[in-house]
Amino acid sequence: MSGGDKLDFEIRPNPQPVSAAERAALLANPGFGRIFTDHMVTIRYAEGKGWYDGRVESRAPIPMDPAAAVLHYAQEIFEGLKAYHAADGGVTMFRPDANARRFNISAERMSMPHLPEQVFLDSLHHIIQVDREWIPPTEDGSLYLRPFMYASEVFLGVRPALEYLYVLIASPVGAYFSGGVKPVAVWVSQEYTRAAPGGTGAAKCGGNYAASLAAQAEAIEHGCDQVVFLDAVERRYVDELGGMNIFFVYDDGNLVTPPLTGTILPGITRDSVLALAAREGRRVDERPVSFDEWRADAASGRLREVFACGTAAVITPIGVVRTPVGEFKMGDGGPGEVTMGLREQLVAIQRGRADDPHGWVHRVL
Ligand SMILES: *Cc1c(COP(=O)(O)O)cnc(C)c1O
Repeated sequence: MSGGDKLDFEIRPNPQPVSAAERAALLANPGFGRIFTDHMVTIRYAEGKGWYDGRVESRAPIPMDPAAAVLHYAQEIFEGLKAYHAADGGVTMFRPDANARRFNISAERMSMPHLPEQVFLDSLHHIIQVDREWIPPTEDGSLYLRPFMYASEVFLGVRPALEYLYVLIASPVGAYFSGGVKPVAVWVSQEYTRAAPGGTGAAKCGGNYAASLAAQAEAIEHGCDQVVFLDAVERRYVDELGGMNIFFVYDDGNLVTPPLTGTILPGITRDSVLALAAREGRRVDERPVSFDEWRADAASGRLREVFACGTAAVITPIGVVRTPVGEFKMGDGGPGEVTMGLREQLVAIQRGRADDPHGWVHRVL
């Protein structure tokens, strides 16, 4: 491809796909990120040549030179979105155009090449077409799509690589947290931060996740499901969780979420919640919330509910907040009404059970 926004994909169907019986057994209880479909999409990039060699092929290990730049300097970005069975038997995706845009914003921050949005969208269409039988038939099942790009050039010098590989894999998933929607316990890390001003917090890159694992381990040690990160400068203000944004719900029915100042990943679920809440007539302020304020407002009862949101877990209530110096509960520790109402609305739109006034649902098949 030279300059244009169109790329032809060569389609090489998997000659040995998983049998229908085996697939049905896998789909009965897919969990999250454990099972993968029969195919993947790959596209190569070389400086001066652009994107080329687009393929839909059997999912298989990718040969890699030990000097591939990504293994040393972590030039890698990814996306995550879902495909659903539509009520009429078709297949839809939720806001894939927003993922295509964000992929390029991440690419820019990591000095990686721009992938035309249409090529990104076409790759999603291709894998859904070829692996549509892998969308779980269950109520809360979906096909999680994972596009990613990494520096494949064989070179140890420190500079943006001249060669990249874009890959798209797909994974049938059930509910993210086992046991359905129940409030999670979060650990507020005092030790670790996720993103500093000027850093890569707003880019969806693997490196951010690598850096969050120590904090996540600390959370698990303390019996928590997820970490809440505070800002890296003052360690006072709430940024987000390791892979989810956060919302606060007050007794007047209004919502607050931290602003996108560069240290927070601009979640598409976050953006959708902002729109849904506004449509319900709620005010949503994007402003900093300090951890002290969170604790004080929870104690006074002014703060009623807190929830986390992202593609994988959709909207998840936060029930217990734990720190090295003590813990407190949100409300009675059960899921809040506003949280569950927003969740139900969002899921209904995603699954085609409700009107889609914002045009978020993208028809694939
Ligand atoms: C992906 C991600 C989110 C959620 O983004 P969605 O577009 O809603 O899935 C939030 N925080 C981080 C750090 C993320 O990587």
